[in-house]
Amino acid sequence: MSPARRWAAAALALTALTPAACSTGAAGGEGGDGRLDVLASSPPLQHVAEVVGGEHVDVTGLVPPGGDSHDVELTAAQVGALGEADLLVHQSGLQPSTDDALEVSPPGRVVDTAGLADLDADPHFWLDPLRLAEAGELVADALAELDPAAAADYAAGAEALAEQAAALDAEHARALAPCRGATLVTSHEAFGYLAGRYGLRQVGIAGIDPHVEPTPARVRRVVDVVRDAGVRTVFFEVSTSPEVTEALARELGVGTGVLNPIERAGEDEDYPSLVRRNLDALTSGLVCDGPPGAGEPSNS
Ligand SMILES: [Zn+2]
Repeated sequence: MSPARRWAAAALALTALTPAACSTGAAGGEGGDGRLDVLASSPPLQHVAEVVGGEHVDVTGLVPPGGDSHDVELTAAQVGALGEADLLVHQSGLQPSTDDALEVSPPGRVVDTAGLADLDADPHFWLDPLRLAEAGELVADALAELDPAAAADYAAGAEALAEQAAALDAEHARALAPCRGATLVTSHEAFGYLAGRYGLRQVGIAGIDPHVEPTPARVRRVVDVVRDAGVRTVFFEVSTSPEVTEALARELGVGTGVLNPIERAGEDEDYPSLVRRNLDALTSGLVCDGPPGAGEPSNS
């Protein structure tokens, strides 16, 4: 499509998404290498698109290696690629740059997963594997509309993602059952969905935004919580500065642990293994002395 036509299509899309107007021939798996071009706005959503789309899709992440899902700035080339893509899988509200680019350079289809994040002000739904699996259903539906011939494969991909999530959920339920009610003190308040599902109480040192330094009042409150709840470990986020957390841990005489909010690109492990790493950190750092899960011996 010529630049002039693309801008015309973009103007149209401000009032109504017009997928056919932007088709480059790849939709339906007919042109090019026969695969659908899918863009994903974060590493967890890239995982979803890869598992669901399998051999029928080429998935490209919008977050550059080492970059953070919260504050991606799309390049001009990425904005152009967005307009050529068959599908974007994103989460509106998480990345203003992508939200803006969608208005001028819309892809064939858009899956918005923002509805899966329903905790007030907390976008990190992907840290609960069962919620992430729900994104798989949305992606399977969109891919099936673009490429009806492979609809059964996309449904099977969503099912595979759901099974992966169910396995992770079972591991969490078993391992965290003795930790029910434990207080999870973390630098980046990103684990609300996980905490809610497995009965943990999350207390953020900095709050939701990892780039905001905690106020002295907030630090004092965390100190009180740590003392009152007998917390053994304060967690900080991988790849951000651990200074505040470490200073606090030293002052309180407790240990530190590392949690990964799985929002940076360029990790050398996939989503399930990063989730399992977080689970290991939780079970070794939380106070877990409650009764073990029903039907599961505690010494297994
Ligand atoms: Zn985050």
